[in-house]
Amino acid sequence: MNMPAFMNGAKKLLIGGEWIEAQSGERIDAINPATGDVMCQIARGGTGDVDRAVAAARHAFEGEWSRWTPHQRRKLILKVHDVLLDNFDELALIETLDMGAPLARTRAFREWTSQVIQFYASHTDAATTEAAPNSLPGNFMTLKRKAPVGVVGGIIPWNGPLMGQWWIFGPTLATGCTAVIKPAEDASLSVLRTAELLLEAGVPEGVINVVTGYGRDAGQALAEHMDVDRVAFTGSYVTAQSIIRASAGNIKRVQLELGGKSPDIVFADADLDKAVPGAAMGVYTNSGQVCVAGTRIFVQRPIHEEFVARMRDFTRTIRVGNGLAPDTQLGPLISQRQLDRVMNYVEIGGREGARLASGGTRLGGELASGFFVEPTIFAGVSNDMTIAREEIFGPVASIIPFDDMEEAIRLANDTSFGLAGGVWTRDLSTAHKVSDAIDAGTVWVNCYGVLDPAVGFGGYKMSGYGWKGSREHVDSFLYPKAIYMNLD
Ligand code: NAP
Ligand code: MG
Repeated sequence: MNMPAFMNGAKKLLIGGEWIEAQSGERIDAINPATGDVMCQIARGGTGDVDRAVAAARHAFEGEWSRWTPHQRRKLILKVHDVLLDNFDELALIETLDMGAPLARTRAFREWTSQVIQFYASHTDAATTEAAPNSLPGNFMTLKRKAPVGVVGGIIPWNGPLMGQWWIFGPTLATGCTAVIKPAEDASLSVLRTAELLLEAGVPEGVINVVTGYGRDAGQALAEHMDVDRVAFTGSYVTAQSIIRASAGNIKRVQLELGGKSPDIVFADADLDKAVPGAAMGVYTNSGQVCVAGTRIFVQRPIHEEFVARMRDFTRTIRVGNGLAPDTQLGPLISQRQLDRVMNYVEIGGREGARLASGGTRLGGELASGFFVEPTIFAGVSNDMTIAREEIFGPVASIIPFDDMEEAIRLANDTSFGLAGGVWTRDLSTAHKVSDAIDAGTVWVNCYGVLDPAVGFGGYKMSGYGWKGSREHVDSFLYPKAIYMNLD
């Protein structure tokens, strides 16, 4: 396969429409997790670079851009849509090389990207001025305005930046905000290439800026910055706690999309032909590096053993390998660090008495230089074991037996997270009752992981706050303002 020319040479930061080196001149290796090879380098941006990027974003915000008409903005976003789709094979390949997800997955984001960009294109009219009814004595006219908040700091993780970046770029372009985005150092390349394409499509300079680097310096500087009006963060709850503290300086708006330990509940009456692969891929997709992964699979006791056996058989059919191979279903984990973390949880699971029903080992042979782990099933897990409480972010499923609906709901909600959940049943009443009772932002019934940008998603509890997708998301990039006019 031909490597994209983009992969040659060291990457720079995008600030005010210019590609420039980090002030420190330092760089970070971009590693292919399927081989462990260094492919190229990205710039290690720091506080000074963030300062410059925020200044460029402020300058662009104060210029013409934030006053563009809805029509101008829509036209631009649709142009971006076309340019992105024309280059999508290259973007998918870059994402596969940089973070490991199979081409089968990254290429499938083409349709999703098209949908998400078109969704934001259809919401460029969100910054409005409307007359509001009032009950004031006298002769008052009241107006409600919504105006873009200003400079947005976007901080995203490595598990799918090709997709994840659109939750920042989409509402930024739709509303007339400007953004400084800080991708994860483990997967910045698809964001950098997308940024090049945004410029090519005509996004004005300074509207989108990209500062690559480490979270502890570039990310922290962005979260603390006194001239950033809003931070949109996706990542772990530990980092989110630090972002909340960093936001205190100027009381900036914060949106947090964090992790989960989502329950996926399989009742004895479920159609197992659908529930087994559905629940299994609800954990394994993207090698388990998915925020909504349904990692706690609750199975009603009469079918527990059958379910475990069928899930094990299904799991053994999954092809794990280099994502460049067309038939690969699961790629590597993102890094050595993540591999160590996952293997450590596998060990803890065994030590705490869970039964290893499948997998559990790092893959060797020709995959030995990459960060590959087998999809893994622990059966007979209890909800208070470490592997059922902490987010592993790897392809590790915990199967937990339950007796009745009440117990399933109680155990499902016995977690500090609340991002998503699933229910598999043929009974309409069970489906309604359980989906209503799960404390989570998204619940899937007889399916798992589907997502429409027009509906969106968000978290309860320690899975964060704020909603991504839907009109609500666009509105969260706007400040409401009331204007009272005394006409007498
Ligand atoms: P993470 O460690 O929190 O990192 C996320 C981003 O924050 C990265 O860009 C990271 O930079 C940066 N960062 C780290 N420390 C920072 C600091 N002190 N200040 C500002 N930024 C900082 O998360 P991760 O382990 O990479 O990603 C996995 C997590 O993301 C999981 O918990 C997963 O569930 C969650 N996630 C949630 C969603 C959702 O929509 N709910 C979607 C995807 C993932 P560097 O990595 O470059 O150092
Ligand atoms: Mg990489």
